[in-house]
Amino acid sequence: MNNVPAWTANLRKVTPYVPGEQPQEGDKIKLNTNENPYPPSPKVFDAHRKLDVSAFSLYPELSAASLVKRLAAYHDISEREVFAGVGSDDVLSMSFLTFFNSQKPILFPDITYSFYPVWAQAYQIPYECKPLRGDFTVDVDDYKGENGGVVIANPNAPTSIGMAATEIEEIIKANRDVVVIIDEAYVDFGGETVLPLIHKYDNLLVVRTFSKSRSLAGMRIGYAMGDERLIQALNDVKESVNSYTMNTASISLGAASLEDETYFQQNVGKIVNTRECVGGELVKLGFEVKESQTNFLFVSHKEISAKHIFERLKEKHIYVRYFDKERIRNYLRITVGTEEQMGVFLEAVREIVLV
Ligand code: PMP
Repeated sequence: MNNVPAWTANLRKVTPYVPGEQPQEGDKIKLNTNENPYPPSPKVFDAHRKLDVSAFSLYPELSAASLVKRLAAYHDISEREVFAGVGSDDVLSMSFLTFFNSQKPILFPDITYSFYPVWAQAYQIPYECKPLRGDFTVDVDDYKGENGGVVIANPNAPTSIGMAATEIEEIIKANRDVVVIIDEAYVDFGGETVLPLIHKYDNLLVVRTFSKSRSLAGMRIGYAMGDERLIQALNDVKESVNSYTMNTASISLGAASLEDETYFQQNVGKIVNTRECVGGELVKLGFEVKESQTNFLFVSHKEISAKHIFERLKEKHIYVRYFDKERIRNYLRITVGTEEQMGVFLEAVREIVLV
């Protein structure tokens, strides 16, 4: 029987990105999508109470102008050097569409954020994955050949490993004729930023998010910083796709979050402390733990398979991330939760591995 409609020949063929599960049961511990376990700043709660709902009848500001202004002041750069989007996924997607239009392949590591190959495929951008070294670090020399652009997550996900800014600068320098995107989604947890280099290299775009260190994943706020010509190009493409993207509430609440540096630093500090304690405990339980510069741990047990631990944790309603993928099949990515959540998690892991 052949009942495949003729229009299927003209479909854009994609294999969608598979995000971590969003389980609904009440008593779960969710350590699988690198969200922040703490609430946003009290200033965000205040701003939420003061939201003028009657203003929702109007379209939001074009280009999230007031948030862009706050971000520029926060980072001490020009408003013309900032682009805001609906989560860094939107910013990265728009950046792929804007900057990667060469016949030459774009380059990124074989183990990295698994959305990169999905956007490349969706936008029909040729790409080539450069294998990380055996210890999951990036070999800078892999990014010095001919290419159509480079995208690197620093620190990397799911490995949690960071690169030195000097190494990234080498990559940027070797690729002055294409755009190098550095995805700094996790940089606030200990990574080394290359933001100061945007004034030295007009081919560098730095992408950040409010989803991790600012506890605002549900508001969907991301941004990019770079030479004003890069930002102009991004705005032109974005406005050719959809003019009003970030909603009015996100614009206000994102701006409020930037007003509370003390809370931001405390929140990040708590997560970093918990990460170090939990990492130490996991080592005692027979895990190899990668040195993390993020809000998650990438671990592998010396004897018990990652899949087994993942499944047993899930039975206990504790969700971590398992990737059924070459090279990392025996690793788990564990988001750092609250101290209390991680206590329960460690107890469950003890029950599984100390049998
Ligand atoms: N980059 C990396 C490396 C990530 O892990 C994530 C989170 N899944 C994102 C970007 C996107 O985050 P968001 O769209 O919430 O800003």
